[in-house]
Amino acid sequence: MSYINLISFPNYLDAHLRLMHLQEQGINCWLKDENTVTIDPILTNAIGGIKLMVHEAQAGRAAELLRIMMNKEHEATPCPQCHSLNVEYIVTHRKAGNWLSAIATFLLGDFAMAPHKVYHCFDCGHEFSPGKSPEVSDT
Ligand SMILES: [Zn+2]
Repeated sequence: MSYINLISFPNYLDAHLRLMHLQEQGINCWLKDENTVTIDPILTNAIGGIKLMVHEAQAGRAAELLRIMMNKEHEATPCPQCHSLNVEYIVTHRKAGNWLSAIATFLLGDFAMAPHKVYHCFDCGHEFSPGKSPEVSDT
């Protein structure tokens, strides 16, 4: 089995969000140099960031899934409270939203602490569910 570096990220959260998305779709993938970058961010540029490694047989599908995911993220999703477009789709954890719980979830799996995905407005701090997004209409 061999893996290829599909894409690199400068920080843990971006890398982990993409990793979880691909794993939910059944893609065999993992993060390389995750610990190095998390422990010593100064090394990020030197080693090329956190690398999302994907099994080469699934690389084409993984790239397509990432492209769709990133396109969705860049669609304008205004904050329902203040109408700002400074909004990002993030993963939070209801009980303890910090890096340690994120890492624990990664190590222990989703049964430990189910990740909760929301849009976060960086202007007013409001968080809202993607289910309230206007483009989700066909159910
Ligand atoms: Zn807002």
